[in-house]
Amino acid sequence: MPVKTGTGYSNSFLLFYQRPHFKVLVVGGGPAGMEAARVATLRGHDVTIYEKNKELGGHLIEATVPAFKKDLKDYKDWIVCQMSKQGVKVELGKAATALSVAAFKPDAVVIATGSVVSIPDIPGADKSILTTAIDLLLGKEGPGENTLLVGGGAVGCETALYLAQKGKKVTLVEILPEVCSDVAMVKGKLTVELADSGVKVLPNTKVVGITEGGVTATGDDQDTMTIAGDKVVLSMGLVADNALYEELKAEIPEIYLIGDATEPGRVGRAVHDGYRVGAAI
Ligand SMILES: Cc1cc2nc3c(=O)[nH]c(=O)nc-3n(C[C@H](O)[C@H](O)[C@H](O)COP(=O)(O)OP(=O)(O)OC[C@H]3O[C@@H](n4cnc5c(N)ncnc54)[C@H](O)[C@@H]3O)c2cc1C
Repeated sequence: MPVKTGTGYSNSFLLFYQRPHFKVLVVGGGPAGMEAARVATLRGHDVTIYEKNKELGGHLIEATVPAFKKDLKDYKDWIVCQMSKQGVKVELGKAATALSVAAFKPDAVVIATGSVVSIPDIPGADKSILTTAIDLLLGKEGPGENTLLVGGGAVGCETALYLAQKGKKVTLVEILPEVCSDVAMVKGKLTVELADSGVKVLPNTKVVGITEGGVTATGDDQDTMTIAGDKVVLSMGLVADNALYEELKAEIPEIYLIGDATEPGRVGRAVHDGYRVGAAI
């Protein structure tokens, strides 16, 4: 029997195992959902993607805004193109619910609903000065002239670099002793590029409040300091969006959860999940 979660490698042999022609519903048109749809279609199934956004891509849309993410943009364009090329049916602007999934009467469902921004419980988190790295990259919010980026993981570092390359003054505030620590392979390169672009990095600094004039933070000495800025951009991680899976898992005999919806990660993991599940159906 096929596995029902996004982890494990044991079922790749199912690529060669013929099953009946299935009606498959994939919820979410990010890289995980698109890869699952591509492979399940190649296996001869009738596959439909429901995507609540007006375009396919998931987080790849904002991830590929900076010009230096061209390789990832090329991948995104390729996988989106494969949907029409392989005959995957795509319904955009369609947010799946438990009711709409049941009404579709699928033989198998793949939940690839991805991840959403996690807003920490910090005083002042409702201030108008505040935005997220995703909204900023998508152009929903403009940058300031003196932007404070809170969170120095890969997304925070790349967003800081993107703004600095546009001539903005950027300060990157990170609670850990080092930035980019979640991307070991490119950490050295990214750190040098941040320095060369004039991004000021404040490690070991914990943001404890947001004001209309910047943030309050504590450093190594635990003293509270103020850091001035006209825009505060949060990049403090994502959380899995698995609510629909939790609602449906007891109702649908063949259902899979893949990609960031299992746990926020990277594109490679999402695509691998999609391939394995697409091959298992
Ligand atoms: C700014 C940024 C930059 C990144 N850069 C990189 C990078 O350089 N390299 C890398 O490896 N990773 C990067 N990542 C991480 C990577 O983008 C994610 O790991 C990957 O996109 C996860 O793919 P996914 O398909 O599981 O989920 P997502 O990409 O989140 O896609 C989920 C999709 O499901 C849709 N959806 C959700 N609920 C419903 C519903 N009820 N009905 C219909 N549709 C629904 C959403 O609209 C979305 O399109 C980045 C992430 C961000 C935010």
